[in-house]
Amino acid sequence: MIKLQDIEKVYQSDNGTIHALRGVNLSVKQGEIFGIIGTSGAGKSTLVRCINMLESPTKGIVTVDGQELTSLNEQELREQRKKIGMIFQHFNLLSSRTVYQNIAFPLELAKRSKEEIDKEVLHLLELVGLSDKKDQYPAQLSGGQKQRVGIARALANHPKVLLCDEATSALDPQTTKSILELLKDINRKFQLTIVLITHEMQVIKEICNQVAVIEGGKIIEQGKVIDIFTQP
Ligand code: ADP
Ligand code: ADP
Repeated sequence: MIKLQDIEKVYQSDNGTIHALRGVNLSVKQGEIFGIIGTSGAGKSTLVRCINMLESPTKGIVTVDGQELTSLNEQELREQRKKIGMIFQHFNLLSSRTVYQNIAFPLELAKRSKEEIDKEVLHLLELVGLSDKKDQYPAQLSGGQKQRVGIARALANHPKVLLCDEATSALDPQTTKSILELLKDINRKFQLTIVLITHEMQVIKEICNQVAVIEGGKIIEQGKVIDIFTQP
């Protein structure tokens, strides 16, 4: 479902040249929950943002669902990105829009009819367990509820891949568990491929099948979770 070949990412900044990714190769199968773990600054965020081309790699090939993304123009890329949903550490919800309107947003952008949007949003609200919160604003929600809205919004266009950028790092352990359970449910229900980045071993152990360890922009280890981490 996802293939990264020889990905390099170099940032030019005031402090000089930063080599964020150095020859990353990664292959994620359909339906897998793939974890990428590493310390702060290791390159996790850059790596996950290369999968949907929010960052363009300086070198290398990104392929998602059989389509090479690194060879596309902006418009073609916009189309392909509908296959890739993303959720964030700080949720990135629109504070002036209600829960319903936040989830409807990507469907409006995709020019879907009002009826279709209504049906889809109500279904998604039920899926994430927030039907009774649809008219509330993000500021009225707990962190876990905000992330549920983020997940519903990410699923609105029925993506094949869900990218999770430290999606539980702002949440307490119990809320983290419930969000990870929801991700597991969605993975099973829709055969959705999930890639998540985290600095927490526990998150990886909880839901991932496969894991890659990144350090200094390089994948230093990769394999089944049970083979990479010995159980406590
Ligand atoms: P992680 O997500 O593992 O914390 P990042 O991918 O955010 O790591 O960062 C990897 C390296 O790239 C770090 O040294 C970081 O400072 C640098 N970096 C990330 N984004 C940028 C940017 N937009 N401009 C310059 N340097 C960046
Ligand atoms: P349920 O029985 O709870 O409605 P289904 O598994 O029958 O769930 O799924 C049907 C619904 O799921 C449809 O409304 C469809 O729009 C939605 N759906 C299908 N694939 C996805 C996806 N990848 N992400 C989110 N929703 C999806």
